Amino acid sequence: MSATIVVVGAGVIGLDVALILAENGYGHLTTVVAQHMPGDTSIDYTSPWAGANFSAISGSDKNALIWDKAGYQRLMRLASTEGLESAIRKTQSFEYWDEKPAEQKLSSLADYLEDFTVLPSEKLMPGVAYGVSFTTVTINAPRHIQYLKNKLELLGVQFFRRKLDHLDHAFLSDRTKVVFNCVGNAARHLPGVQDSNCFPVRGQILLTRAPQIETNVMRHGKDYETYIIPRPYSNGNVILGGFMQKNNGTGDTFAHEAESIWQRTSTLEPSLHASGTEVLATFAGLRPGRQGGARIELEEAQAGRIVVHNYGAGGTGYQAGLGMGMEAVGLALPHLSKTLSGQDVVDLHAAEQSARRANL
Ligand SMILES: Cc1cc2nc3c(=O)[nH]c(=O)nc-3n(C[C@H](O)[C@H](O)[C@H](O)COP(=O)(O)OP(=O)(O)OC[C@H]3O[C@@H](n4cnc5c(N)ncnc54)[C@H](O)[C@@H]3O)c2cc1C
Repeated sequence: MSATIVVVGAGVIGLDVALILAENGYGHLTTVVAQHMPGDTSIDYTSPWAGANFSAISGSDKNALIWDKAGYQRLMRLASTEGLESAIRKTQSFEYWDEKPAEQKLSSLADYLEDFTVLPSEKLMPGVAYGVSFTTVTINAPRHIQYLKNKLELLGVQFFRRKLDHLDHAFLSDRTKVVFNCVGNAARHLPGVQDSNCFPVRGQILLTRAPQIETNVMRHGKDYETYIIPRPYSNGNVILGGFMQKNNGTGDTFAHEAESIWQRTSTLEPSLHASGTEVLATFAGLRPGRQGGARIELEEAQAGRIVVHNYGAGGTGYQAGLGMGMEAVGLALPHLSKTLSGQDVVDLHAAEQSARRANL
């Protein structure tokens, strides 16, 4: 195992970082170390539980807007070139707010979202102050992370299952130069990180079968989030949600919350009442929230070692993950080229050839 570069975490954030590293020719020098991998389920592994879509759910802080834009552009391209393999589909979306969102956010969205249209106020349902439609991407979350792992393996990235007791243990050998910390919710307690700004944001969702639903619909309330996300390449499954419960870390699911989700989503989209709609399962997941937003930051550790933190993606790890990954890898690139040893350079040459063969 080369492990010149170690990515800790195989959620969508770690996998996106590994993808950007591979695109820069570093696939063969990269090892992903994680307790949970695509295919696993655990309340300590958020990525399989996501809806998932691109939505206008982010706040209006500058970083979030930049990461969202980069993520949207990459995911839309992926939907066009490898939609089936990556389990991503372009989908028409309607989003409604009970209070009009900040102008800064709206103008950023209007700038890059395809088919962005402000809905006429007379067409909005009672209680809605503002609405837009645009072309979004919907993502089959469990299949997408599996796709990323398969693709990364083809690009020379190695995967190694291990639960680390301290972030320092990610420096697997003397050859490890850079560690990307993508541990999601574990950032709060993992020794070597212990970031008290981190907190879980619980969501409960219903997995339903409702093939009649082909559009993505969101309603952003003052203290609630309601969403309907058709799951691509799933034979008509649809995710209904949801909840955004700060500091709630339980993986239990509750019947009264399932009832609330059904009530709100079927009011938003009455065609859910069609005969044949089935509720298949109820799940809960914990978004990795962080006061002040995600942390993407380079830290110089002892002996010239570098750690790049990339965690706290909250409710936007799929939509912003590639944008976050580009920033995180960008921080490390100057250090990587400076510190690679002779053998690493030989490996890198092989990696570049392989990336070219894979048409990256
Ligand atoms: C109900 C719900 C709906 C959502 N919908 C959307 C959506 O529509 N769009 C969107 O963009 N996002 C959505 N999200 C948010 C998205 O799922 C998260 O932002 C994303 O999954 C976070 O990914 P992550 O890689 O940071 O964390 P995780 O997926 O939790 O991955 C963390 C990784 O770190 C590993 N790890 C942790 N500690 C250690 C350790 N000590 N040693 C080794 N490995 C360790 C874990 O094993 C795992 O591999 C949703 C989330 C939920 C819960």
